[in-house]
Amino acid sequence: MTDVIIIGGGPAGSAMGSLLSKAGIKNVILESANHPRPHVGESMVTSSTRVFKEIGFLPVMECEGFVHKFGASWHAPNGKEFAIEFGEFPQEGIDQDYTYHVDRSKFDLLMLKHAESLGTKVYQGVHVKKILFEGSKAVGVRAVVAGHEFDLYAKVIVDATGRNTLLGNQLKLKVKDPIFNQYAVHAWFTGVNRGDDLHTADFIHIYFLKVERGWVWQIPINAEVTSVGVVADRNVLKESHSDIEAYFFTHVNSNPDLERAMKSATRINEFKTEGDYSYSLSKFCGDGFVCIGDAARFVDPIFSSGVSVALYSAKYASERIKLAFDTGDFSEAMFMPYEEKVRGGVSVWYEFIRLYYKLLPLFTHFIQSKTHRIEVLRLLQGEVYDRKQVPVLDAMRKYIKAVEMSDDHLMKQALTSIPIDDEPEEFVIPAGELSRSIPGVEQNI
Ligand SMILES: Cc1cc2nc3c(=O)[nH]c(=O)nc-3n(C[C@H](O)[C@H](O)[C@H](O)COP(=O)(O)OP(=O)(O)OC[C@H]3O[C@@H](n4cnc5c(N)ncnc54)[C@H](O)[C@@H]3O)c2cc1C
Repeated sequence: MTDVIIIGGGPAGSAMGSLLSKAGIKNVILESANHPRPHVGESMVTSSTRVFKEIGFLPVMECEGFVHKFGASWHAPNGKEFAIEFGEFPQEGIDQDYTYHVDRSKFDLLMLKHAESLGTKVYQGVHVKKILFEGSKAVGVRAVVAGHEFDLYAKVIVDATGRNTLLGNQLKLKVKDPIFNQYAVHAWFTGVNRGDDLHTADFIHIYFLKVERGWVWQIPINAEVTSVGVVADRNVLKESHSDIEAYFFTHVNSNPDLERAMKSATRINEFKTEGDYSYSLSKFCGDGFVCIGDAARFVDPIFSSGVSVALYSAKYASERIKLAFDTGDFSEAMFMPYEEKVRGGVSVWYEFIRLYYKLLPLFTHFIQSKTHRIEVLRLLQGEVYDRKQVPVLDAMRKYIKAVEMSDDHLMKQALTSIPIDDEPEEFVIPAGELSRSIPGVEQNI
């Protein structure tokens, strides 16, 4: 028998495996795919470096030659460009001013191998069908490999199944995001013109589109290959009545900077699509179980937050799991501080994203502002945990209110239709008083 079963060997599961193995807790990862497998989510934020350091993975990141990401750049439809560099504000515990863009098939395999090298038992090609419960307590999993079904038991079950949300579906805990219903179409290209400035060429480049919550990512995967993805509200695709390729290029060509960058580009793999991807579980933990990474919560990827949330949720959950083994208490109460911490952090990301989409393209006002630039940068670096106050978010809300209230503000038309009258429920609930479900939104998607 093992101590902990981790379902899913993406960044969340592998980080969890590494952290538990380092702590001497026996654990297995059951992964349904056989790595390497492709995955969306190729650009990181700098806070991830702390977790890489903690699990001893940073030398691997350097050794493998992943592209260094020093900053981010936004391109307005009128050709104006605004950039920000991570090095403008030093982060505690991090002594490099860049993060990484990765080929996820390579990165995820390396993370999985790293966990294995630290002692985690990794089984690939094993699909977990369900989590087994005795009353309210998770006690094991039912899995299938090569058509053969078996049950496996452990003291703690970690759901790291990503957007498959195994437990969220099984216990009907999934709550659809009330605002965002984004849809992404993406592929890899060669021949993308990333610009003449070698330093900014490897930034993530975000191009604004003139459609509902529309933007495009440009992420360098290596010297030749660039990932490009068009994101917008799902209705934009529906109403376009066009096929995926026509839809993709219509939007690419609608932003002059991007049209220029893509002029000589050649697609080298199939278009992939992702939809319905913003949600939260009404609980991230219970007796004998925790959900981490995308299996707990997913927010829109505009700020490349996903992998860092996967890593930090693994880190914070592993700390409570260690304490559970020290004390013999595997109850929900033991794991709740993990949930509160991650819910709080992701709520900061969520509010930042919500206000960003409301402000588009007025967001650039906050990048340019002397008062707010560093605070915006700290969020873009991924510094969202244990924040009692995030003044720049208050400033954004105030600015929006002022524009909305004025009869003749020149930029009033630029604000989008996102509702911001109230702060979102999750954002305002103080730690310790968390609701176990989010009222007023559709349950069980
Ligand atoms: C359009 C889009 C763009 C994105 N861009 C970015 C970005 O630029 N930067 C960023 O940081 N994030 C981005 N993300 C988010 C990022 O992809 C995820 O947040 C990240 O991969 C989460 O890691 P995870 O380990 O939780 O889940 P995953 O990486 O999805 O890993 C889950 C693993 O569980 C396995 N699994 C699933 N079900 C089972 C089962 N039943 N049994 C066994 N194994 C199972 C899967 O095979 C998979 O390997 C983006 C997401 C989307 C949708």
